[in-house]
Amino acid sequence: TPPPQTKTTFGPLADEDRIFTNLYGRHDWRLKAAMKRGDWYKTKEIIEKGDMWIVNEIKTSGLRGRGGAGFPSGLKWSFMHKPPDGRPKFLLVNADEGEPGTCKDREIMRHDPHKLIEGCVIAGRGMGANTGFIYIRGEFYNEACNLQYAIIEAYKAGYLGKNACGSGFDFDLYVQRGAGAYVCGEETSLIESLEGKAGKPRNKPPFPADIGVFGCPSTVTNVETVAVAPTICRRGGKWFASFGRTRNSGTKLFNISGHVCNPCTFEEEMSMSTKELIERHAGGVIGGWDNLLAIIPGGSSTPCITKEDAETSIHDYDGLMKVRSSLGTGAMIVMNKDTDIIKAIARLASFYKHESCGQCTPCREGLHWVNMIMQRFVTGNAQIGEIDMLWELTKQIEGHTICALGDGAAWPPQGLIRHFRPLIEERIRKREADEQAAADAVAAE
Ligand code: NAD
Ligand code: SF4
Repeated sequence: TPPPQTKTTFGPLADEDRIFTNLYGRHDWRLKAAMKRGDWYKTKEIIEKGDMWIVNEIKTSGLRGRGGAGFPSGLKWSFMHKPPDGRPKFLLVNADEGEPGTCKDREIMRHDPHKLIEGCVIAGRGMGANTGFIYIRGEFYNEACNLQYAIIEAYKAGYLGKNACGSGFDFDLYVQRGAGAYVCGEETSLIESLEGKAGKPRNKPPFPADIGVFGCPSTVTNVETVAVAPTICRRGGKWFASFGRTRNSGTKLFNISGHVCNPCTFEEEMSMSTKELIERHAGGVIGGWDNLLAIIPGGSSTPCITKEDAETSIHDYDGLMKVRSSLGTGAMIVMNKDTDIIKAIARLASFYKHESCGQCTPCREGLHWVNMIMQRFVTGNAQIGEIDMLWELTKQIEGHTICALGDGAAWPPQGLIRHFRPLIEERIRKREADEQAAADAVAAE
């Protein structure tokens, strides 16, 4: 358990406390330069401390999965500690970053591939896995090339393979490219795809730690989560836990896109306010803060929040729950008053409908209807009663599907209705009034 936090002010992060220093200078990402920045420093000693030490350090750090769900990482890695039963164990790094608005893992693989590779060896040791796969989104072609190049460098330097880093621990690492399906970022779908099958999610339980890839214990974990592990082990779990607040500790990569002066990816201490993150790092909202309409706070699967919410919200797991949203991937999409927010959410509805794997009825059929209703809201060609109908429909999808895609698709329309119902009603009434006026004009003729 991380030590309780009593801090009340957070950030900005000092340069020396940044883990991903290479995201800023954009220096050479290859081995020699990476080592100058501190990668692969004393990795042998960390590996030799053993699996319990590594997992305990991750537990002490309070690190939570950075892929979006925020599951405690140390706990998840500890699920792999079981008596040997003859099956090999696998580390599966989820680099299938497809959440709209999110591009933080891409930056790591583009500019800091050695942090991820070193993290794989350490995480592999922590879990007792001698093999790792980095499952990378198919569209990330250049990043896959960088990774492959860096892996070859690491093999040549003796950091990967038999007796990795001279520690006596064997670890092999492979890159597997995906083929462009958003749902393959869901962990069990990723496993199916890695096995050469269609990427359709499995029911859980069993969780991957019991039955994962090729029927063996596996842990699927996000790129950023793995890439911060070496620094946590070098500087100590307590150091990482000293950032942010209890249950929300550490530093984190954030993306800010949309109507801001300077769209960006940056690392910051957890638990800063949403407004401060936008103003400090992205140069503020285009047209000024008062021109803000709404923010999607953590990738497209998180419900939007209003300007008023963004003024008070703490941008972390607990803070965003208070405004009925979530941190997700930490990728904010900022929309100012020039945005047609009904159209923006309708675009997401169409995306999720397209990406549904079609296995379960609430998702396959439900998202078809969500999309149809949302498209009608865009033109106003709907009935007022359909707003409640859409709300009810999303409640029938949420929590009733095999994987989280159904939930992620249900939440954006819920956020829209919660905060912008008058806008939808206004558009429907305007269309009705226009039609009435046209009919009256015809009658008058
Ligand atoms: P989840 O809550 O089902 O699982 C989180 C992790 O914890 C999984 O690895 C799961 O196996 C593990 N876990 C949970 N309960 C467990 C238990 N009892 N025993 C053992 N392991 C357990 O969520 P998820 O489906 O992994 O992720 C959903 C989130 O992913 C969404 O909230 C969304 O924000 C995010 N997302 C991210 C991207 C991206 O590109 N990064 C894309 C889509 C969605
Ligand atoms: Fe497939 Fe959707 Fe069901 Fe997930 S929720 S398994 S994407 S149909």
